[in-house]
Amino acid sequence: MLELRPNCEFCDRDLPADSELARICSYECTFCSQCVDELFNNVCPNCGGGFVSRPLRPQQAHREGVSLISQPASTDRKHSPYSRNDVEIFSATLASIPPHQR
Ligand SMILES: [Zn+2]
Ligand SMILES: [Zn+2]
Repeated sequence: MLELRPNCEFCDRDLPADSELARICSYECTFCSQCVDELFNNVCPNCGGGFVSRPLRPQQAHREGVSLISQPASTDRKHSPYSRNDVEIFSATLASIPPHQR
């Protein structure tokens, strides 16, 4: 099950479960759209993959047992170990290659 992480792992902005600004890579690395678009150029700083919008888990149970009530968002804030300079260099090496060809 997808872990709905509470913050951008780079700029630490809050990304609550109902945020439409959250982006995730295939490893669930979670960042805000601003970092992904303006800083990473769609290159995950942790794995080099691309991003998609994080799906929105329903707030209410429209089917029994499946909603934020039963599976709430994570409260474990994560932080990228990479510096801004490192991320910019890493992104520059991969951004010209489409995610499906990396
Ligand atoms: Zn961010
Ligand atoms: Zn990643």
